[in-house]
Amino acid sequence: MDDHSKGGLETVMLDGRALARSLNATLIAPAAALDRPPGLAVVLVGEDEASARYVRQKGVVAGRLGFEHQQIALPTDVSQDRLQATIQALVDDPAVHGVLLQLPLPEYLDAQAALACIPPHKDVDCLHPENVGRVTLGTAELLPCTAWGVIELIRSTGRALSGAEAVVVGRSALVGRPTSLLLDQAGATVTVCHRSTRDLELCVRRAEVLVVAAGVPGLVRGTWVRPGAVVIDVGIHSTEHGLVGDVEASSALGRAAFLSPVPGGVGPLTIAGLMRNTFVAARAQQRAR
Ligand code: ADP
Repeated sequence: MDDHSKGGLETVMLDGRALARSLNATLIAPAAALDRPPGLAVVLVGEDEASARYVRQKGVVAGRLGFEHQQIALPTDVSQDRLQATIQALVDDPAVHGVLLQLPLPEYLDAQAALACIPPHKDVDCLHPENVGRVTLGTAELLPCTAWGVIELIRSTGRALSGAEAVVVGRSALVGRPTSLLLDQAGATVTVCHRSTRDLELCVRRAEVLVVAAGVPGLVRGTWVRPGAVVIDVGIHSTEHGLVGDVEASSALGRAAFLSPVPGGVGPLTIAGLMRNTFVAARAQQRAR
């Protein structure tokens, strides 16, 4: 963690890489004790550079943990039938415990129909309606990777979530909504903001814990941050000034007590969440045999 102070308060930059490394390390021994290593398959459609980079990173981390991993790259013009047949073959392979379809897909493909080919027990991205339902009930084994990572980052600050005023900006199925559910289950009082929120600044100002996942660079101004808040920035955007998040980091320094950097904040924890889910899925499937 690096210290930054400006305008009085010291802002601690959260080290997502180090936290992810230590969480990942806890999986190595239990994974090695299984009958066969956890197996992860990632399906990537098309040439998107950022998606290809994420898929490579997932493979590197899986390899480091002794997991089996495979990456299936399909061309941009792949048919819906071929995409679904590819997913089905992976689902049918007993050595593959988790199947992930890298999103977003090219527009002409039906992502929901393709995702529906992944049954709940192999759904390591936690997008199947049954798994989403379990998350809302608080009974899920497989957890939404980024939301899980956000909670781990917040916990690493030592701040209690029970009773905290938490604000989540964004309510996507992949990030915002599941994060708000996990915060709620941890005892926070949660406000969810979105495109139609009338006064975003007013909502953000009350956050003791602020999670921003809107997909808009610099949407949240640092001057809106409540002094002493924990700020988790899920956004990542490539700009001419390099990678930036959804929070204007320069003006949040000196106001936030803790800030997750972009890159090196949430990203590594999303991958750690995927590794956790792959291990949990492998353990459950090997017990069930
Ligand atoms: P992600 O995958 O990063 O969560 P999505 O585009 O799927 O991104 O979802 C963006 C979310 O952010 C939506 O819930 C949307 O309502 C919210 N959002 C987008 N722009 C704004 C904005 N200007 N103010 C508040 N919320 C926003």
